[in-house]
Amino acid sequence: MRTFIIFGLCTVVLSFAAYAQSPMYLTNYTISQNSDIVGDLKLTDNSKSITVSGELREAFSVNKKNQLVVFKKKLKAGWSFDVEITAKTSGGSITRTYRIIKDEFIHNKVIAHRGAWKNTGQPENSIGALEYAIRLGWKGSEFDVHMSADSLPVVNHDASIKGVSIAKSNASDLLGITLSNGETLPTLTNYLKAGMLQNKTKLILEIKPSELGAASSIALTRKVVALVESMKAQAWVDYISFDYDVCKEVMKLAPYAKAAYLKGEKTPSELAADHFFGLDYHFSVLQKNPDWIADAKSRNLTINVWTVNDQALMKDLLKENVDFITTNEPELLLTLIK
Ligand code: MG
Repeated sequence: MRTFIIFGLCTVVLSFAAYAQSPMYLTNYTISQNSDIVGDLKLTDNSKSITVSGELREAFSVNKKNQLVVFKKKLKAGWSFDVEITAKTSGGSITRTYRIIKDEFIHNKVIAHRGAWKNTGQPENSIGALEYAIRLGWKGSEFDVHMSADSLPVVNHDASIKGVSIAKSNASDLLGITLSNGETLPTLTNYLKAGMLQNKTKLILEIKPSELGAASSIALTRKVVALVESMKAQAWVDYISFDYDVCKEVMKLAPYAKAAYLKGEKTPSELAADHFFGLDYHFSVLQKNPDWIADAKSRNLTINVWTVNDQALMKDLLKENVDFITTNEPELLLTLIK
């Protein structure tokens, strides 16, 4: 009995530790053209000193305000830099490596809904559809994430694929399923790897609420954030979800994360109070609440609108100067923007 209780307690402590906020994080992971400050280093413990400890000590340093600074003239060729940082805290030393990339992301407002599939022959949410979205030069490519019964996040729109429930099946039963372009069902790991080969198109990651309920949705969220951090994909990924608690969990685990809410019933003021990056609402929500666009802008919330396939509506939203438009017709939207 005692062994059982101790084992149970250890499991609780370990799972808490695995899902706690990282003891050190950066508030930003990109190098902008206009600034030498990359971002602020935040620690959950008091730190005596934070220094750049790896090979890139010449090109990066930490200033007195605990900001990561880049010396652009000392950067070697390329756009991606793994910067090792060590903090001495009262609890010991912490070393983390962060992937810092040059911010060369495209700013044309076009978010391809489930990738570039309509005119490319690629299935929605496939790595092929992502690769086309990158090649075609869009601001972002959106995709949906679910989790298998044995906790592997995979990319698919629906909760099931070819009649097989993702949440109720093990990865071994899912990864053999092929898409119409010959790809197997993409794991989130492989999807992110494909997106991280470039720094032009952002990865707009939608965490789907689980058909098994709230606890499973939160478990998926923790898994996804941990995977993004372990793959050093922070610079590429923005998060979206229809589940408010999922969005809040993302920001709790990763306070630097850019999260936008999809469902539409929260006002800009409520989203700002909860530190959202933006709102990402169906166009009918903004038609019913036309003052929300100005309200969101005044609160520094970004505005993304889904799923806009109609040319006249695209033109209206461009006139309103929304930040992003999510569409199944990215080619059409791009011609209007140009
Ligand atoms: Mg989606």
